[in-house]
Amino acid sequence: MSVVTADVIVIGLGAMGGAAFRSLASRGLRVVGIEQHSVPHALGSSHGETRIIRKAYFEHPDYVPLLRRSYELWGDLETAIGQQLYHETGLLLIGPPDGEAIPGARLAAERHGIAIEPLSAADLRRRFPWITPREGDECLFEPEAGFLEVERCVEAQVRDGERRQGTAACGERVVEWSAEGRVARVVTDRGRYEAGALVIAGGPWASRLLHEMHVPLEVVRKPVVWFRSRPGAVAPTCGFFVEQEGRAFYGVPSLERGMTKLAEHTGGNVVEDADRVDRLLRSEDVGPLQTFAETTLRDIDSTPVRSAVCLYTLTPDRHFVIDQHPGHANVAVACGFSGHGFKFAPVVGEALADLAVRGESALPIGFLQNRSWT
Ligand SMILES: Cc1cc2nc3c(=O)[nH]c(=O)nc-3n(C[C@H](O)[C@H](O)[C@H](O)COP(=O)(O)OP(=O)(O)OC[C@H]3O[C@@H](n4cnc5c(N)ncnc54)[C@H](O)[C@@H]3O)c2cc1C
Repeated sequence: MSVVTADVIVIGLGAMGGAAFRSLASRGLRVVGIEQHSVPHALGSSHGETRIIRKAYFEHPDYVPLLRRSYELWGDLETAIGQQLYHETGLLLIGPPDGEAIPGARLAAERHGIAIEPLSAADLRRRFPWITPREGDECLFEPEAGFLEVERCVEAQVRDGERRQGTAACGERVVEWSAEGRVARVVTDRGRYEAGALVIAGGPWASRLLHEMHVPLEVVRKPVVWFRSRPGAVAPTCGFFVEQEGRAFYGVPSLERGMTKLAEHTGGNVVEDADRVDRLLRSEDVGPLQTFAETTLRDIDSTPVRSAVCLYTLTPDRHFVIDQHPGHANVAVACGFSGHGFKFAPVVGEALADLAVRGESALPIGFLQNRSWT
């Protein structure tokens, strides 16, 4: 069997691998991306119409410089394809003053000079009458936030990479890879590849590709459900993230008028094998969302209209892994995006391309490298 050669091979053309593919192709490198399914597809972590993007990052302020670069790169992708992918609706953050979201967003906003508006209960009623917070909750509005059209973003990254002479091999599963000095070899169920460097971005399948790294990843099943607003009611006009009683729910206005996508960020059942996921909506998936809708979004009809099941890949501390493979300097890896990675995809792609080709990146990813799991 003949061997296909390239400068860099990318395993996985989902959010992160697709971004690395585009970044490498835009540097004039010969890049081959290998994807076991199609681009996009609905079996991994990057489907379900929309993804929230925001800057006042409560998870950790060190993500903010990466987010700023990500906003620039999403804009660059929109310009390259001549189409809108980002919708700046703003985002409401609601929760207890001593929770994770409100103090974390305030800290990130103060440290990095990000605009956030504290809203009183009266402000909220006037500007966002469709949502009712709990007694004692605080509320912040971040105007420079919104949502990305997830499948269109994934597709646009790869198509733009192909336009720049990248080659995408879809429907082909990587079964083995190895690296030795400046050579990386990949074997798929259809062929063999060889390159100077390798990027591995396997999403929920990452553990299979990175078993030597021993990253304790946990894959979790995450249902999302679309609900319609009652006839004549004002439907949610922006994204929202609500922390209540140790749980977190969020919602995004659908592209279909009058519909809202709801999901729970916390919780979820662990999946042992990402190839065998129950994709049907269960009553225990819908119940908590209906209760949330009934108490917090009173004008939403709690009959589900449609649903999808997606996968989170969690690290123990919920922070990402973006690094060089510890055993191979020419292999860059990204995994464990813990349910909040999509907004970062283009900057992760840029970092992965830097790491694979140069062994280092000027991007501030130090806090996501050399992670210890003991
Ligand atoms: C319901 C839900 C809601 C979310 N909401 C948000 C949000 O609002 N904002 C946000 O920023 N993030 C959000 N996230 C998280 C974000 O979507 C993920 O962090 C991100 O999509 C992960 O991208 P990935 O490239 O790691 O995985 P994927 O996009 O799944 O890509 C991995 C790819 O690798 C391929 N692959 C794996 N193994 C092989 C192999 N052996 N051979 C060939 N190909 C292979 C897979 O087929 C897949 O296409 C959400 C996630 C979910 C599930």
